[in-house]
Amino acid sequence: MSKSNERLSHVRRRVERDIVAFGIAIAAILMFIGTGGSVLPQIMRSWLYNERGPDYLLVNALLLNIALIVFGMRRYRELLAEIEQRRQSEETAKQLAEIDPLTGCLNRRSIAPATEALIEAHKDGHGAVAFLMIDLDNFKQVNDLNGHKVGDLLLQVTAERMRSILPDGSLLSRLGGDEFACVLPFDDRSPDAIDRIADKLISTISQRHDIDGLPVETTISVGIATTATFKGQNDCGRTLSESLLHRADIAMYHAKKQGKNRHYWFETSMETELRFRNEMEAELRKGILNGEFVPYYEQQIDIESGEIVGFEMLARWHSPELGVVDPNTFIPVAEEIGLIGHLSEQLIDKALEDAKEWPQHLTLSVNISPVQMRDPWFAQKLLKQLIEHNFPPERLEIEITESCLHENMSHVRSMIASLKNQGVRISLDDFGTGYSSLAQLRSLPFDRLKIDRSFVGELNAEDANEKLINAIIALGDGLNLPITAEGIEDNKILQALRGKGKLKGQGYLYGRPEQADAVRARLLQLGLLSQSGGVRDMAGEGGDSAEDEAAEAADQQRQA
Ligand code: C2E
Ligand code: MG
Ligand code: MG
Repeated sequence: MSKSNERLSHVRRRVERDIVAFGIAIAAILMFIGTGGSVLPQIMRSWLYNERGPDYLLVNALLLNIALIVFGMRRYRELLAEIEQRRQSEETAKQLAEIDPLTGCLNRRSIAPATEALIEAHKDGHGAVAFLMIDLDNFKQVNDLNGHKVGDLLLQVTAERMRSILPDGSLLSRLGGDEFACVLPFDDRSPDAIDRIADKLISTISQRHDIDGLPVETTISVGIATTATFKGQNDCGRTLSESLLHRADIAMYHAKKQGKNRHYWFETSMETELRFRNEMEAELRKGILNGEFVPYYEQQIDIESGEIVGFEMLARWHSPELGVVDPNTFIPVAEEIGLIGHLSEQLIDKALEDAKEWPQHLTLSVNISPVQMRDPWFAQKLLKQLIEHNFPPERLEIEITESCLHENMSHVRSMIASLKNQGVRISLDDFGTGYSSLAQLRSLPFDRLKIDRSFVGELNAEDANEKLINAIIALGDGLNLPITAEGIEDNKILQALRGKGKLKGQGYLYGRPEQADAVRARLLQLGLLSQSGGVRDMAGEGGDSAEDEAAEAADQQRQA
């Protein structure tokens, strides 16, 4: 028998029992009236006038009636208690099914029917409904740093703040984790009302929380979809509420991509972009397995002598589907899906093998993503790679960007220290584009600053303003940090940089990043490698500067 049939027959049996009990109670009351009506006067008369007492049979019947009535009343009270208990457990079950126990908001299951009802109620005239998808920007970090208890409290406080802002008649739901949804009706002639609410949510939630005595800061990203521009026509078989959630989710994702702590309304182009990104993600996973990522190398030159001093490894993806993809496109995707560490390891393995062939005085620079810097084992993994490839740590330079410094500073500091202890050098890449403070620059033991190419490119302008570059170089001098200028595209820039101290430089003037074979050819051409593949001792050898020779080598490659 199925569970529901079993429950049905159980209920039926109870109803039958209660009907029988009810019938017995009614019969008992009728009999009580019947027997009591004659027995009680007889009892009174026997007491008062000493007349003959009532018939014992009738007295017994009356007592039996009283017992039955008492029993009936007790059963009635039990019945009432049972009904109350059942009502309460039904209420609890309903709550559990609809409400998120942590925040008291609607849960994911119940937001859909509630949204449909709200849409239905506001579908006429200028009525519209906005669906706001809200995600906390740094919840994982708060949880990891302060523990789950603080994380839970943060979710509760956030829900409370949202509740205080939303107008009456709106819905608030926690969809799961740190994801919330607000659904609110509005007049489709004034969508700016929704903008204002989204802005208020963003500014209110970003105010510092005091949780368990701990100051906790968080921001939110908000995506908005509305029935005002979309009536749910043929949206892959989704219901209206599902479509709104889907679209708001895409807009929220877009807000995250644009730098978080902001809101965006859904636009169709976002969906196309996302589809492309998802395809790329799938391809990237395949690409890593198939080893489709190739290290390219860009020359690093001593600006005064014009000699090659090393190479920076820059990743390229040779994708059979997408062609050659540049790192600005695939690195953020690899970071997001947690594969950057794996990808970087693969590339560094290849680069260490390539660079082992080069003359020992040439360095290898590799870029490290802020996501890798969060890995507590990063330094150990890198040192293990160096040992496996038997590569001298002094020849390796790690380039980190300023955004790494916003992360946990003490963690970054200890990682830099353990790499430096082994002899690896550390450069601060793209200097000037981030927000590193002078205090940070002084407190972290960097070996080099790399001036971002946007400043170097300035030197090419008609009214070239050298003041900023001079200031950065003076800063490097003051902090005792050597400097590399990125993005030297032409001779004008090179001439402007000459005489500004002992600088290293790199840029298209010296050649585009090239693959290992081309680097080999270049080194052979420069006489830095012998034909047999061995390294030639260049000490004391004269010859043309690397610039001129490199240009020649590049020409030959182009012709080939
Ligand atoms: P970056 O480390 O600042 O590298 C310099 C970028 O500027 C390279 O772009 C290079 O090709 C380009 N460049 C060099 N000289 C010139 C020039 O004269 N003019 C102009 N306009 N551009 C020049 P690329 O290869 O597209 O790399 C972009 C960024 O991607 C790199 O910036 C680096 O931050 C990142 N990246 C590259 N490879 C890796 C990698 O293996 N791991 C990580 N985490 N990031 C990487
Ligand atoms: Mg770099
Ligand atoms: Mg750079």
